[in-house]
Amino acid sequence: MTARVLDGTKIRDAVFADLTVEIARLGAEGVRPGLAAVLVGENPASQLYVKSKIAACEQLGLASWLHTPLASVTTEELLALVEQLNNDDAVDGILMQLPLPAQVDTKRVLEAVDPAKDVDGFHPENVGKLVSGRPGLVACTPAGCMEILRRGNVKIEGANAVVLGRSDIVGKPMALLLMHANATVTICHSKTRDLPDVVRRADIVVAAMGKAGYVGADWICPGAAVIDVGTNKVTDSFEAERLLKKFPVRLEKFRAKGSVLVGDVHPDAVETAGALTPVPGGVGPMTITMLMSNTVKAARLRRAGRGTAAGDARSVNSVAGAGLR
Ligand code: NAP
Repeated sequence: MTARVLDGTKIRDAVFADLTVEIARLGAEGVRPGLAAVLVGENPASQLYVKSKIAACEQLGLASWLHTPLASVTTEELLALVEQLNNDDAVDGILMQLPLPAQVDTKRVLEAVDPAKDVDGFHPENVGKLVSGRPGLVACTPAGCMEILRRGNVKIEGANAVVLGRSDIVGKPMALLLMHANATVTICHSKTRDLPDVVRRADIVVAAMGKAGYVGADWICPGAAVIDVGTNKVTDSFEAERLLKKFPVRLEKFRAKGSVLVGDVHPDAVETAGALTPVPGGVGPMTITMLMSNTVKAARLRRAGRGTAAGDARSVNSVAGAGLR
């Protein structure tokens, strides 16, 4: 059996198509959702991420602003910038690209972001809304995983779902979203006993551990849906051989390039799973997609709070929402 591929790129395109309609509708009402990105210092990976996020805004016709404080910025200076963005009515979403430099109190800065503009869904107020099942802004990666499951027609209600990892940005919100969608959820972490047996009982496996190919193909229940969040760069040739023995084309590419990206689930799981997200090309494209979705959602929710047409209750629930439905 070969798993059905849950193609994140195709699902991104479908979400973008829905967002385009919603953005046009908002535009007709004089609203142009906008994202302000804050990129501190010159971390090349952060620069690349922010560039992709701004490019996605431009593709969709959202307004975007890039703020680039120096790496020597203080907590107070960043708090002042956040306050300025909180007070700017044109800004619907504030993205504070992490990591921030060591001298900055990251928690304080993130908690200063207006929860209504917290498009990363990290603010405790939004986390609380997620826990209590109220509409709010939800962390982008788990929201993207839900979108993959829904648009990939994976039955969630009543399913046994196992989430591997309990981080604040992936594992915990993922488990809550699955629970709200009526799955029976088990959360696993580094102290979980008999992990293979727990995973074998799952109809849906979400792996977010950061361990290349750790989840064995024989842990996956035949026919299960596998959402592989892990994004691991493998540079060791023994490791690459272990993981890609059955994938000569990928192995050849590894030999040419010296590295390969693999998920937390062994690639051989494609022979056991019923449906599976590839790495790369599965969850990855959905994270920026849901950032865009959250920015549009923030624009609607902020206006809903003011009772304007752009934010009426119907539209709040109408689009590929990043949060609860
Ligand atoms: P994290 O904060 O490092 O959390 C990893 C989690 O995995 C922890 O809860 C840890 O358990 C658990 N874990 C580690 N080893 C384990 C083991 N042997 N057995 C069971 N559980 C184990 O990582 P994260 O930020 O959630 O990210 C996880 C992965 O997703 C990484 O590969 C990251 O690159 C990727 N990611 C991808 C995207 C994307 O857009 N594609 C976005 C975000 C993250 P403890 O709590 O007990 O330590």
